[in-house]
Amino acid sequence: MHQIVTAKNQNVIHQVFAGRCNVFIVTGGKSFILIDASVAKYKIELFEAIDSFIREGYAFQGLVVTHCHFDHVINVYAAKQKYKMHIYVHAREKDFLAGGKSPAMIGTNPLLKVITTSFQKPLQAFARYKAAEPDITVENDNFNLNSLGINTYLLHTPGHSPGSMSVIVDNEIALVGDNMVGMFKGSLYPPFAEDPKLLIKSWEKLLDTGCRLFIPSHGKASTRDTLLRQYQALQ
Ligand SMILES: [Zn+2]
Repeated sequence: MHQIVTAKNQNVIHQVFAGRCNVFIVTGGKSFILIDASVAKYKIELFEAIDSFIREGYAFQGLVVTHCHFDHVINVYAAKQKYKMHIYVHAREKDFLAGGKSPAMIGTNPLLKVITTSFQKPLQAFARYKAAEPDITVENDNFNLNSLGINTYLLHTPGHSPGSMSVIVDNEIALVGDNMVGMFKGSLYPPFAEDPKLLIKSWEKLLDTGCRLFIPSHGKASTRDTLLRQYQALQ
């Protein structure tokens, strides 16, 4: 398991696996939270990772859903059945999770935009998953998770989807969901965004956190300098 340690409070971000959707476990003291749950293919691997932390005496404090696109949430229902932890989702997407539906997937380049708009209905049918009832609905712009024993807050960063959230660990490292994609050389801009203008506003919000590292759900992490350069180029 790949680990990234924050300097200030020694919170640790563990990348459980990459692939269809990166999944992370953030530990602080003897507590941990899970960020996203990925697709069925990774269920056993995911549960093994969770179990290994529980065996070491860590308390599973919650599952944060960065947003409700199917590739991030397919295992949420099964995880809830097994571990009974709280599920955190943004208010703007709670009905998607509770209904087993994905928010709209709209392409950001002209061709993909036409294709995704024309085929949104079959795309939505394909993107169904087993519904899960959220326990904690996040309404604040900054939702503090310090009470769970981890120096972390959830930041509302809409644009890719209406209720996209980023997880800010120790004011130093941001887990940004699909607000950035680290798979294409020279561009962090995601292939899908419901509201591209709002997405860029969320990049500004992420820069304002002061974080030094931005880790997306697909692909590799980016430094603050890279994000700043690309943000300025889009102004
Ligand atoms: Zn997404």
